[in-house]
Amino acid sequence: MKTVGILALQGDFEAHAKAIEKAGGRAIEVRTREEMSRCDGLILPGGESSTMLKLLEYENLLDPLRAFGERKPIYGTCAGAILLAKEVTHPAQLSLGLMDIDVERNGYGRQIDSRIAKLDLNGDGTFEAVFIRAPIIRRVGGDVRVLAKYNGDPVWAEQGRHMVTTFHPELSDDGRVHRRFLEKL
Ligand code: GLN
Repeated sequence: MKTVGILALQGDFEAHAKAIEKAGGRAIEVRTREEMSRCDGLILPGGESSTMLKLLEYENLLDPLRAFGERKPIYGTCAGAILLAKEVTHPAQLSLGLMDIDVERNGYGRQIDSRIAKLDLNGDGTFEAVFIRAPIIRRVGGDVRVLAKYNGDPVWAEQGRHMVTTFHPELSDDGRVHRRFLEKL
């Protein structure tokens, strides 16, 4: 059985652990380099990316995380997608650059910042997606495969071993996103 580490510095890591277990993986919470080294893949959960970034720097986990991503799969949800991006705007902040995407934080604005939307999965049915102060993916590189869009913008994408969603599948009763990540390990 594959072990998926959930970065547990901040944000909704518990729901991801449950979703991974339900999808057939083993989930462990990751707060140290040593815990990271026991994982076949990692999930960066939703939360507040600027806070997560500060905690990663404080715990000296930023470089180990980048090194992990150079060898093994990482899946970033919402704030986690912001951390994986190449360029971040609104406001600009440091990121890992492991996926060739650019994101705008809080791209949907304040009034309509959270919603549930039905996504069309290109012939694979629909997915009920929970968006919470989500970023908008403004650019995807040529190697990036878009798996779902909302309002014309990519909301689920992958590039090689890495994957991002700007919505929160750990809050829906639909295991397809987590199962797809397990298949990458
Ligand atoms: N708005 C948050 C950020 O910019 C992301 C929100 C989320 O992860 N649900 O980091």
